[in-house]
Amino acid sequence: MNRTLTILKPDCVRKQLIGAVIEKIETAGFRIVAMKKTKLTKETAGEFYAVHRQRPFYGELVEFMSSGPCVPMILEKDNAVDDFRTLIGATDPAEAAEGTVRKLYADSKGENIVHGSDSDENAVLESAFFFSTEDIVRVNK
Ligand code: UDP
Ligand code: MG
Repeated sequence: MNRTLTILKPDCVRKQLIGAVIEKIETAGFRIVAMKKTKLTKETAGEFYAVHRQRPFYGELVEFMSSGPCVPMILEKDNAVDDFRTLIGATDPAEAAEGTVRKLYADSKGENIVHGSDSDENAVLESAFFFSTEDIVRVNK
C-alpha cells in the first residue's frame, strides 16, 4: 500500500464540492487515512509550495491557497501517487482528460480544485506538513 497527500483546495470548499470529490476518490479505491478542515495562512501556504517560489504564479498561488478553508487528506491505495494524479487530471483543466476531477470541476490552471503529491518522497513530506502520526488511522477492509 502506498500513500499520497491531497488537498481539496479553497475553490473546492467554496463551490461545495467536498462531497463530490470525496465520492470520486473513494469510488476509485482510495482509503482516507487522515483528514481535516483547516485554513492556511500566507506563510504556511508559501511554505507548502516553497518549491515554486521562483515561478511567476507563486504569489497568486499563495493568495489563493490562503483565501479560505481547505481539506487536506492522506489517501492509501496501491500505486497511490500516480493513480491519484491520473484521477485528478492535468494541472490545467483545459488539458485534463474527460472524467477527471479537474476536467469536471476546475475553473482554471490556478484554481484547480485539488492538490496531489508528485512522488512518494513528497507524499511523506507533505503528509507530515499537515498531520502527526496519531492522526493517521488505517481502516481495515
Ligand atoms: N499553478 C498555477 N499556474 C501554473 C502552474 C501551476 O497557478 O502555470 C498552480 C496550480 O494551482 C497548481 C499549483 O500551482 O496546482 C502547483 O503547480 P504544479 O506544477 O505542481 O501542478 P500540480 O502538481 O498541482 O498539477
Ligand atoms: Mg505539483
